[in-house]
Amino acid sequence: MEFIKEAFARNYIAPLGENVTGFEEDIKAFTGAENALALSSGTAALHLALLSLGIKAGDRVMASSLTFIGSVSPITFIGAEPIFIDSDKKSWNLDPNLLEDAVRRERPKALILTHLYGCCADLEAIGRICDQWGVVLIEDAAESLGAVYKERQSGTIGAAGIYSFNGNKIITTSGGGMLVSQSEAVARRASFLSTQAREPVAHYEHNEIGFNYRMSNILAGIGRGQMRVLSDRVRRRREIFSFYRSALNDLPIEFMPEISGSRSNRWLSAILLNDSRVTTEAARLALERKNIESRPLWKPMHAQGAFSGAKRYVTGVSEDLFARGLCLPSGSQMNEDDLWLTAETIRNIFR
Ligand SMILES: *Cc1c(COP(=O)(O)O)cnc(C)c1O
Repeated sequence: MEFIKEAFARNYIAPLGENVTGFEEDIKAFTGAENALALSSGTAALHLALLSLGIKAGDRVMASSLTFIGSVSPITFIGAEPIFIDSDKKSWNLDPNLLEDAVRRERPKALILTHLYGCCADLEAIGRICDQWGVVLIEDAAESLGAVYKERQSGTIGAAGIYSFNGNKIITTSGGGMLVSQSEAVARRASFLSTQAREPVAHYEHNEIGFNYRMSNILAGIGRGQMRVLSDRVRRRREIFSFYRSALNDLPIEFMPEISGSRSNRWLSAILLNDSRVTTEAARLALERKNIESRPLWKPMHAQGAFSGAKRYVTGVSEDLFARGLCLPSGSQMNEDDLWLTAETIRNIFR
């Protein structure tokens, strides 16, 4: 509220201003990214990441199939061709072996790699494949702000990374996103495209088409406030995950793995129901009867009608995860009573 009040007091509510710059500085300081650009959404950040890295219409762009559609729709915005890669059992994230085979056959320009529910994908193996075959790696860290892979923050390891501050993410600006990159040229190009590709002259001069994608100074004020609690949020989400794991450890339930060398932000506590008599829909409805919200995992992109014609390299892993998986309530504000009620309700489903 102080950041927002300050913006009003200085009559600096839009478009850019100190909160935008301050929020970008906060993200750089927290993640170690060299450059950060505050934008209107995570989807917009991915759109600009593709364009700023030189991906063009007709290029092939690979992507994690088990993800949210905002991760991959930007591929179609630019007229590129999405190719979906399935998950592996070990991480639930993109399968490096499948990727290697697919890259060898398809020679894609780029890969959009999702860190699912805050858990890092196998960045070492995937990064090695991308380096070897000259594939531009874009990290979709929309869900994983605060997650660490081998001492580095998710989002800062690829050629570019994005975060989302949509209402459901670990921190929020009510809506917003951030593009980060170690390359100043990429950040500068994205910044230019995010402000209608306006040339730096006094009048309105445009030699190409851009977008209206910048974050407002008011929303960035929310972001600055949220950055003060990000570490607390990560700690709390990890506590919630640990609670579920110990409270439910005797049930036929599997918890989303955290691959070695990584530390998840546990944005959402995701589980698999390993009992053929208990469907995810039955579990979801049993929780809903107690006014407890839960959701199936993302439905894989290769199984979506919108992508029925898209190429895919699939093994059945993500479809199996979708069939058996459930995201449990994971909000940072949940108290011990909420957690126990959720755990007891799940326990009763198996009785
Ligand atoms: C939320 C999300 C996005 C999109 O972010 P928005 O800010 O909602 O546009 C992209 N990818 C993943 C994996 C997400 O969860």
